[in-house]
Amino acid sequence: MSFQLDFFSLKGKTALVTGARTGIGQAISVGLAAAGAHLILVGHQDNMQETQNKIAELQGTYETFLIDLSDVENLKANLQPILEKYSIDILVNNAGVIYREPAAAHNVNEWNRVMDVNINSVFTLCQTIGNQMIEKKSGKIINIASLLSFQGGINVPSYTASKHAIAGLTKALANEWASQGVQVNAIAPGYISTNNTEALRNDEVRNQSILERIPAGRWGQADDLAGAAVFLASRASDYVSGHVLVVDGGWMGR
Ligand code: NAP
Repeated sequence: MSFQLDFFSLKGKTALVTGARTGIGQAISVGLAAAGAHLILVGHQDNMQETQNKIAELQGTYETFLIDLSDVENLKANLQPILEKYSIDILVNNAGVIYREPAAAHNVNEWNRVMDVNINSVFTLCQTIGNQMIEKKSGKIINIASLLSFQGGINVPSYTASKHAIAGLTKALANEWASQGVQVNAIAPGYISTNNTEALRNDEVRNQSILERIPAGRWGQADDLAGAAVFLASRASDYVSGHVLVVDGGWMGR
């Protein structure tokens, strides 16, 4: 069938977004709801009101589940109530943490926490929900990567390692699952104004040097990510597989 605008529609689809309480996860959740999806909002803290209100304003629907993604050992079991109730069409692995400390002093417990939330839990989510998708021969997985999936970053070695792993995992899963109707891709946000980057924006020198390198001349807003997420979640991207889509105001092209 030749292209139609409603290939971008997510009506009738169920999307699970982790880290949906704040920032990019909230914006992507609201974007997917605006495109018609039912949202499963996975959060850590018992206060998802802002995201819920934004979805309700669009007459969208949602259900919220609280899961600590750092508890990788019990993650499969903690996902069971969701899997028993829903057949998930779209999985957005967005939750992530950052720990800023030079490599020489990097705390090993923090290293492990970053790895658990940013990559170990993502593999379990992909495997558990991916198996459901493989069974029905249809699904979209979107992992949230970073510019530090390509670059080294400064004083964030655990974060950089975890985000390089996200790019690798995305491509590995895409290779295995593209033939089974499941597209696995990633979005690499540039410098986006959220809690994750508050320390950088509060540092006048870093803030200025970051701004000077962004061709768009501004920090990204979380809403800047929603369009890319809707595209990768929709039928319009059915032949896109294993791609890391950079949304960065031009940073990587500089
Ligand atoms: P954020 O507002 O700090 O969002 C992080 C989210 O992760 C929060 O909603 C948080 O949930 C969730 N989370 C943290 N630990 C968790 C845990 N143990 N279990 C469950 N959820 C947990 O920052 P953000 O910028 O929107 O980050 C979203 C994603 O984008 C992250 O993967 C980040 O690495 C990536 N990213 C951000 C930027 C940027 O410039 N901002 C750039 C590149 C990539 P609670 O609030 O409920 O604790």
